[in-house]
Order: sequence, then C-alpha cells, then structure tokens
Amino acid sequence: MTIWIIEDKCDGCRRCIKACPYEGIEIKDGIASVTERCTSCGACIEACKKKNAIESDIEPRKIPDFSDRQGVWVFAEQTDGKLARVCLELLGKAQDLAKDMGHKVSAVLLGKDVSHLIQTLHDHGAQNVYLVEDDLLKNFRTIAYTNVIEDLVLTYKPNILLMGATALGRDLAPRVSRRVGTGLTADCTQLAIDPDEKLMFQTRPAFGGNVMATIACKYASPQMATVRPGVMEAAPCKLENPTLIRHKISLKEQDIRTKILERVTQKKPGTDIIDANVIVAGGRGVNGEQGFAMLKELADILGGELACTRLIIEQGILPHDAQVGQTGKTIRPEIYIACGISGAVQHTAGMTGSRYIIAINNDPLAPIFKLANWGIVGDVHEIVPEFIKQLSCGGAS
Ligand SMILES: Cc1cc2nc3c(=O)[nH]c(=O)nc-3n(C[C@H](O)[C@H](O)[C@H](O)COP(=O)(O)OP(=O)(O)OC[C@H]3O[C@@H](n4cnc5c(N)ncnc54)[C@H](O)[C@@H]3O)c2cc1C
Repeated sequence: MTIWIIEDKCDGCRRCIKACPYEGIEIKDGIASVTERCTSCGACIEACKKKNAIESDIEPRKIPDFSDRQGVWVFAEQTDGKLARVCLELLGKAQDLAKDMGHKVSAVLLGKDVSHLIQTLHDHGAQNVYLVEDDLLKNFRTIAYTNVIEDLVLTYKPNILLMGATALGRDLAPRVSRRVGTGLTADCTQLAIDPDEKLMFQTRPAFGGNVMATIACKYASPQMATVRPGVMEAAPCKLENPTLIRHKISLKEQDIRTKILERVTQKKPGTDIIDANVIVAGGRGVNGEQGFAMLKELADILGGELACTRLIIEQGILPHDAQVGQTGKTIRPEIYIACGISGAVQHTAGMTGSRYIIAINNDPLAPIFKLANWGIVGDVHEIVPEFIKQLSCGGAS
C-alpha cells in the first residue's frame, strides 16, 4: 500500500472521502480506511493537510523547468491561400494570454506561395510569423504538417500552441501534441492565464456538456488547445517592428506516406451560419416544418440564414449544421432573431456574441428575454407573418 492512515490523528471528519474521486477511502469504526479502489492519486492527503492523518510513500511528481518556453503561438490555418477565420480569432485571444504572461504572440504559417497572408497575421497581433513554404506543403497532409510543426516547436520552444477546432485542426493538433510529448485540450470555450503559476487554464464542456471542466497542463510543454470557430474575437492591432522568420526544413515525398489523388469540394447551398450576418433561429415553439418554411421566408427577405435549437435537429427538421449552442455552433451575427426558443443555457452558449438579439416568445417569463435587446411577447405564427408582410411591402425599415 502506498497510502495509509495515522489512526491517532484521524477524527473521522470525512474531508478525505469528499476529496476522493474513486471511493478509495471510507470511514470504518469512526476513522478513515483506505479501500482497494484507491489509485494513490493523493487527493485525500491534500484534503487532510491540516490534520496530517494520511501519509504516503509516493514521490511527489516534479514539474520540469519550462522557463525557456516562450511565446503564444497560433497555427495559421489556410486553404488555397485563404486564412481560416478562426486563426484571426485565436490571434485575438493570444494577445490577452501573451499580455498576462509577458510573452509575445506568433503565428505559424505553412503552405506554398502563402506569403501574401503575412501582413494579415501581423495586423491581427502576430509579432512574429514563422513561415515554412515548400511544394510539398501546397495541400494539407497530416504527416507533412506534423513534421514541420514538430520541428518548429522543438527549435523555437513556444509555451502555448493554439489551433482552430476545424476539420483540419482536429486532425493535426492531436498528432502534433503526441509528437512533441504534450497534452491537448480539444474544443475549448475559454482560455485564461492563472495569475499564480502562469499556466493556461483551458475550459471546455465535459460529460456531454453537463459540466464545464478546466484543465491545466503542468508537466508537459507546450500547452496545447484547440478552440471552435466563432468562440473568440479577432482583435486587429498595429504592431511596431513585426518580424518574419523563414524556417527551412527538408521534406521528402516518401516520408509523407499519403498522396492526394483528387480534391472534391462539397458545395453547400447558402452561407454557413458562422459567417451569416442575420440569423433567423427557431425552436420548439415554431411547431414543425411548416413553421420553419415561414422562418425561411423571413430569413430570405433579410438576406440571412436559418438556425435552430437542438430539439429541431432531433426532430429531423434541419441538419446538424444549423444547430446553435454548446454542442452545435458558436455564432456572432449582427442580428439574431430567436423564434419560439426558451433560452436554455446550452443554446444561449452559442449566440450571446450576437450584436442585436430579437426574441419572439409567447411566455413573458422565457429566459431568452433576459438576453434580448428587443422582446416581443406573442405567438410566433402571428408575429413572423406580420414581419414578412411589413418587410415585403417596404412598410418597415
Ligand atoms: C448536454 C446537453 C447539450 C445540449 N446542447 C444544446 C445545443 O448545443 N443547442 C441547443 O439549442 N440545445 C442544446 N441542448 C438542449 C437544451 O437544453 C434545450 O432543451 C433546448 O435548447 C430547448 O430548445 P427550445 O428552446 O427549442 O425548446 P423549449 O425549451 O421547449 O422552448 C420552446 C419555447 O417556445 C415557446 N413557444 C411555444 N409556442 C410558441 C408560440 N406559438 N409562439 C411563440 N413562442 C412559443 C415556449 O414558451 C418556450 O419558451 C443540450 C442539452 C444537453 C443536456
């Protein structure tokens, strides 16, 4: 056994039981007793610090010296020479993190003929841009990109590395983290610097979105996280003396192991709700497909897109792409019109960044009204047709 109880000191206060996540300790005859479920995690020892009634022969894990790890890096995802918006959003967040740590922000740009993107990266807060251009990096291939980022990380030793939780980022980030021997927190919704230890606190929904977990990576470096598009805000800025670092690495086709035979781009009708300026969103109160046809008419008049709550996806009325919220998309339109939506936290988690929120609900106590700039109490089937009528005949502006 690696954990034991000093019986004379234990008064059966149960603090250790509360602290143990594994039911590894119980009270027997008024004092604590270690069970076979104990994993020696040490949580009980921490909880019993004042009484010192629990001892262990486990060596405390040493935190390596990471004082040479400097800088907050953002992977500048690009496809066909076009930057993914999430990378500018991450640069916005990276500026806050870097300020709190006294570090600099850098962007990592990989590709072929992508130098036209450097200025945009500087203009969004990247003091340094690490540029790697190579014919073999023209199209994204996991192993090629992993090899390059591994080399950059080992050479320049960043403290933090952020990537977008896009299809590409979700493929690349775990590979890179494994290669450089660190952890990765995927799909974070908040990032912050702990003022005491200067660690990055990485917060994300856990257990199906029922709790928010905050994770810190103490024992490995760099601290790596991915963040979904739309969660953070871009923050354009003017920098003095931004620097470009051209990094050379010799890539060989035979090391990459995958070949791109053909690229097929899926064409979706309309705009992705993440990029739409106007969103007309519906919930259970819209009452089925006919109700959504009415919302679509309103969205078309306003040049916007349709979105919805999770219940609507579960009813099969709209595809998952249209779901807003904790397990859907995070959006920041100029106008968000919430029709027959109660305003559950799991939904509002994805739309509070909207500039103006208009809510239509027949329940004056619906929580959505607490967030709305304008609230209309009434039946969505009366109010939306009136909107459509007014807008169609130019009666409203
Ligand atoms: C782990 C987890 C993750 C989740 N993730 C998400 C997520 O990402 N996105 C999401 O949306 N949900 C999510 N949910 C579900 C969420 O908790 C709510 O159940 C859901 O958002 C409610 O959808 P709703 O507003 O359409 O329905 P309801 O809560 O049933 O609200 C319907 C509203 O319509 C109003 N109404 C009814 N009839 C009319 C009418 N004729 N005119 C006007 N108003 C009317 C009612 O007053 C009511 O306020 C998640 C839940 C869990 C447990």
